[in-house]
Amino acid sequence: MSAAADTQEYSFQAEIKQLLHLLAHSLYQSKEIAIRELISNASDALDKMRFVSLTEEAHRDDKPLEIEIKGDKDAKELIIRDNGIGMTHEELISNLGTIAHSGSLEFLKNLATREKKGDVSLIGQFGVGFYSAFMLSDRVRVRTRSYQSNEGWEWESDGSGTYRVTPAEGLERGTQIILHLKDDVLDMAEDWRLKDIIRKYSSFVPHPIRVDGEVVNAQKPIWVEPKSQVTEEQYRQFYQHLTHHSNESPLWHLHMAGDSPIQFRTILYCPPTNYELMGMGKTEHGISLCAKRILVQSDCRDLLPDYLRFLYGVVDSEDLPLNVSRETLQDNSVIRRIKNVLVKGVLDKLQKLGEDNPEEYMTFYKQFGQIIKEGVPTDFPNRERVAKLLRFTSSQADESSPTSLDDYLKRALPDQKEIYYLGGPDLAAIKKSPNLEIFRRRGIEVLFLSDPIDEFVVSNLDRYADKPLKSIDSADLELPGTDAPEPEKPAEEPASSIARVLDLFKTALGERVKEVRESKRLTESPCCLVNTEGALSSQMQRLLKMANQEFPSSGKILEINPSAPLIRRLSLLSANADNDAFIKMCALQLWSNAMLLEGSLPEPEELVARNQTFMEEAAEKRSSIVL
Ligand code: ADP
Ligand code: MG
Repeated sequence: MSAAADTQEYSFQAEIKQLLHLLAHSLYQSKEIAIRELISNASDALDKMRFVSLTEEAHRDDKPLEIEIKGDKDAKELIIRDNGIGMTHEELISNLGTIAHSGSLEFLKNLATREKKGDVSLIGQFGVGFYSAFMLSDRVRVRTRSYQSNEGWEWESDGSGTYRVTPAEGLERGTQIILHLKDDVLDMAEDWRLKDIIRKYSSFVPHPIRVDGEVVNAQKPIWVEPKSQVTEEQYRQFYQHLTHHSNESPLWHLHMAGDSPIQFRTILYCPPTNYELMGMGKTEHGISLCAKRILVQSDCRDLLPDYLRFLYGVVDSEDLPLNVSRETLQDNSVIRRIKNVLVKGVLDKLQKLGEDNPEEYMTFYKQFGQIIKEGVPTDFPNRERVAKLLRFTSSQADESSPTSLDDYLKRALPDQKEIYYLGGPDLAAIKKSPNLEIFRRRGIEVLFLSDPIDEFVVSNLDRYADKPLKSIDSADLELPGTDAPEPEKPAEEPASSIARVLDLFKTALGERVKEVRESKRLTESPCCLVNTEGALSSQMQRLLKMANQEFPSSGKILEINPSAPLIRRLSLLSANADNDAFIKMCALQLWSNAMLLEGSLPEPEELVARNQTFMEEAAEKRSSIVL
């Protein structure tokens, strides 16, 4: 049987066709990253082989694991060869024909929308690095034999819609990627150029990379070095190696060592950008776990909690067995103890950054604050430490320099027993809330929570530094300070008339409110709504209602301000029963207005009809005066 008869032709998955099309037409200058991606794949395959040979007796093997790169300018060829795990026929087809990684499709969409000059340099991060080979070549061949099989295979494609797979004889274990170079990148077949690229992008690859016999990378892992021996530039290069981000610097790094009870070393990095904010889906964990410098698992999810998932780095421990499996990692007590130390280390680092360098901290917080907040409801033992990292705008701290809870407490009044906050649909609506009046009057700071997540986080936190966090639209507040003595009420106002107004309001509002009462917190506004003791804040009720239409509203209390001009007038009018209907209409309208300020819109038709009536009456009054 001839080889051609054995050849099978396959179609790429539609998304890959699209990706290949974008790559072929990409204007991205740095085609060097394709070399980095192929070396990184070779290195992954060597890591896996080393792991297999250490854990499976049958595959024990002393041959050095290496990557070899060879360019041939005349043949327009570049070959990248490794003696790693290789691929079986099935693996070839699923690894180099379909997209498995969920993030890749989002990467693709993003690449397609950003005009012609998409940022291809991120390709490796999204699990489609191999295809960058087509930025350099018009034809790619992959010759491979899996450590589990005696059969070798050749995969071949010109990067248009299809690829072919043919049996290949005489292959050793591992993979060769053979690029047929396009004319504009023939320099990549030259040794000096290859060495340059490898030094630039791949110096931290933990296996020897040979060009023409010479090992080009010779870096010791920097996490085992003492901090004082590592330069900023080395930290930066190692970050770029881990993240595949060629031109990026991390916001900060944390280099730690632990000795007792568990020995470990780590370098953690914070990237500059939160891709979740750009709609790229949930960030995947990016920590590589090593045992005695040998990679055990990349993207390890068990070393950091979800709310620190955006960090990249390496954790290396002498106390871990090499054959620890993915399944047992989660229950491994060494991992759990390392995790505790890492979390404390990161939270301390962030707290210190917040205190020492607020500006840099805010750069971090704007990107990752949203993710950090998830720690309050999910990491009970550390919630107070996480809460220290939160920042809020408030009645005394504007958006340019939001406040921490600690700074809030420093400004609190001497007899203040609670921390106050108010949530609302947006900052402008919050600032207009009549509930703020008494707080302004007494100089009590109120946190403004316009991000719906903040309200969940703060109500979940419940207390901070032993002080309860209270929404200011709650009925039971123990406010500090006292008001200046109230101005004398005008003599014309009989005390009984406000009682009559309260009665009329109650009749008009009926079941809509739980109670109508005189307010002690208002100075200017005619009325406000407050929630009964123990009830959720208005914003929480609104959010829960949005999530679940069936969520029952709890009755609110309408407080009215007897000294507001409108209420004073209504009191006077209430002396004559002819005005009852008008006063009731005002009651309903005031209630609607208060609900609107909270972001709710109950009974819209009635609100509009009532408004109409008010305008008609006002127009009639005006025409009798002005005309
Ligand atoms: P990623 O490396 O993020 O998984 P790639 O597109 O770079 O994505 O590679 C796809 C898959 O192809 C790899 O996960 C791996 O299974 C396989 N692969 C690529 N190169 C090699 C290689 N040199 N040896 C073994 N498998 C490889
Ligand atoms: Mg890859």
